[in-house]
Amino acid sequence: MSILKKHHRRKLLEGPFPEAWENTLLSDVPYLTLLNDVERGQVRDTVRILVDEKYWEGCDGLDVTDTMRVVVAAHAAIMLLHLDTTDYLHNVRTFLLYPAAYLQTQERIGSDGLVHSGSANLGEAWYNGPVVLSWRDTMVAARHPGRGLNVVFHELAHAVDMMTGSTNGTPMLRDRSHYADWHRIMSDTFAELRSTYARGGRDPIRPYGLTNVAEFFAVTTECFFDAPRPLQAAHPKVYEQFSRFWGQDPAARPWPPRGQ
Ligand SMILES: [Zn+2]
Repeated sequence: MSILKKHHRRKLLEGPFPEAWENTLLSDVPYLTLLNDVERGQVRDTVRILVDEKYWEGCDGLDVTDTMRVVVAAHAAIMLLHLDTTDYLHNVRTFLLYPAAYLQTQERIGSDGLVHSGSANLGEAWYNGPVVLSWRDTMVAARHPGRGLNVVFHELAHAVDMMTGSTNGTPMLRDRSHYADWHRIMSDTFAELRSTYARGGRDPIRPYGLTNVAEFFAVTTECFFDAPRPLQAAHPKVYEQFSRFWGQDPAARPWPPRGQ
């Protein structure tokens, strides 16, 4: 990181956290009640950095407000809490917000293309491009954590996956020795999930995760942060791998969040 950027960030974090933003966090991001004080402080700092450093654009006539920026940035900050990074999703420069679900013009999944989320068009993440989100779905997910559905967690999981240079469902793990276990456990679970759904069973990882390995990572990340206890109960080895990568143990947090 450049000295200039470091200096700019330091100045940015010197003043008090804006009161209006604090109110937004209190009213619209109940997930934060699961975190400890140190983590909540870190989230506030990261929110300020993301709001300042990213471009935020509205589509279809949406005027992007501070509330929208703060809610999206808070979820990004939760994911980044223990990733030990100072580059804050460097491959995502822009967040594009639509008022609600929108019509997708392109549909392609690949290392250099578009990865879309779910059957509805709630969000997209482009390789070295913007993250696109439906504001309505972002807000519903923010206010109702615990269902394993969160378009921000989903799309930013793609962005984190893409940081390696390819969208293959394996992010940059903390140590080279972690890859063998990761690949084995994910591929076993993918096969297990396929047979579960083939026989009409249920699983906390929703069926969209079977689209491909990139979607498996994004859907499982949603579940890891937003419904961690069901994920841990159904797939303890997957949970353990995700916990090691993200550096968090969300199942151990005091669910349910307060103020929901
Ligand atoms: Zn996706």
